[in-house]
Amino acid sequence: MSASNGTIRIGLVGIGKIARDQHLPVIGASPDYTLTAVASREGRYEGVPNYRTLAEMLAGQGDLDAVALCQPPQVRFSAALAAIEAGRHVFLEKPPGATLAEVGILIEAARARGVSLFASWHSRYAPGVEPARHWLSGRRIRSVAIAWMEDVRHWHPNQAWIWQAGGMGVFDPGINALSIATHILPPFFLTGATLSVPENRQAPIAADLHFTDADGTAIEAVFDWRQTGPQTWDIRVDTEDGLLVLSKGGSVLTIDGSEQPLPPEAEYRGLYDRFAALVRSGTSDVDLNPLIHVADAFLRGERRTVEAFTD
Ligand code: NAP
Repeated sequence: MSASNGTIRIGLVGIGKIARDQHLPVIGASPDYTLTAVASREGRYEGVPNYRTLAEMLAGQGDLDAVALCQPPQVRFSAALAAIEAGRHVFLEKPPGATLAEVGILIEAARARGVSLFASWHSRYAPGVEPARHWLSGRRIRSVAIAWMEDVRHWHPNQAWIWQAGGMGVFDPGINALSIATHILPPFFLTGATLSVPENRQAPIAADLHFTDADGTAIEAVFDWRQTGPQTWDIRVDTEDGLLVLSKGGSVLTIDGSEQPLPPEAEYRGLYDRFAALVRSGTSDVDLNPLIHVADAFLRGERRTVEAFTD
């Protein structure tokens, strides 16, 4: 942190949907950061130097403190490693990598270089998640049902990478549900899964997942990208003290039918506050659990070929 006003000078890589929707406005509104430069092959952003690659940005901006990496997971590792080796703190969009082992290398590289690495899970910062975690703590859970069902044509138009190996298909949104579940529930593991893969794609369009925990609790999840009409991002936790429902991706919390008062949605502000705290304390935060469950689904699940998907 060497900007004269004490802010973290940050560069952003990959000007696409999430960079425009969330990162750039949140960085711009934060007192903790100065957006110093961007790097994108096609994307442009007014008001700061624009580079085509991370390497050019690092070469041109010697006093950059941190980078936020907003590219698809398949191409993020080499950028993250280069930034770490150049002594920059790194904010990774979710998922933190296309494989588990590559993230392990990043963790070790960040430790060795003395920089902060943040594997962000934005859904954990939805307003209902911490209150849900608090309410569930110590309560006996009977069963859990997760439904994450949305229209891929609406949310992911023309995103070729998401259907390719490493793009994770329906697990791209589904891992958000897993990031919440791993945060609010005791540890659990996969016992079986069915992945429905379109005959013309490499990644699943739907997944049925069966998990359990050390107590034998049934945790069922359905991810489906073929949902039109109302969209569903719900986690229902049946406990001996009542039913907790996190809906709308964690932004609405209902306990036994009673909607709980919550602050407004501010997921990315929460992420950037967290990253600033990590940078200032010289620590990292990389939780691999959501990605472990996705990897397990590919490792342990059955594959079912379904009809071709056309955009
Ligand atoms: P996107 O718009 O398709 O891609 C982001 C940018 O990455 C693109 O504009 C592109 O910039 C660069 N890029 C794309 N393919 C690339 C490739 N093969 N090689 C190098 N650069 C490439 O994706 P997105 O929706 O923003 O998602 C990016 C990441 O954020 C994903 O991991 C996703 O899970 C996560 N995320 C997305 C959302 C969402 O609502 N979309 C929400 C939360 C998290 P240039 O071509 O200009 O370099």
